[in-house]
Amino acid sequence: MPAPQLDITHRLEFSAAHRLHDPALGDEANRQLYGPCNNPNGHGHNYEVEVTVRGEVPPSGMIVDLNVLALIMDEEIFAQVDHKHLNCDVPFLEGLVTTAENLCVAFWQRVQPRILALGGCRLLRVRVYECKNSYADYHGPQL
Ligand SMILES: [Zn+2]
Repeated sequence: MPAPQLDITHRLEFSAAHRLHDPALGDEANRQLYGPCNNPNGHGHNYEVEVTVRGEVPPSGMIVDLNVLALIMDEEIFAQVDHKHLNCDVPFLEGLVTTAENLCVAFWQRVQPRILALGGCRLLRVRVYECKNSYADYHGPQL
């Protein structure tokens, strides 16, 4: 019988400020498009990020050591963004409109090589909650 395949998820929370603003659009168009998230001085969110990996359960019983997954997320995400202004203080977000969608893709790009290096599992999904009830999911580039 083949080993069962499962998904494992770790979640972290961070707080940060951002401003949604597309420099290609005028001020009024930005206000209409992004509403409160276009506030000129930015505003804050309590974000949550979930990283899910998929793999077959090996003899150890662990697809991934959750402490290792937590460490990767702390280093690659939390330490970079917690209590920062996402538009100004995070080099890997420079030039992006800091929506939950774009954060998902940026976080995927940071953690994916380190998950791959673990062996035995692959990155399945990055989920970013911008608030308690709204989130974006990224499942990686469509090949
Ligand atoms: Zn916002």
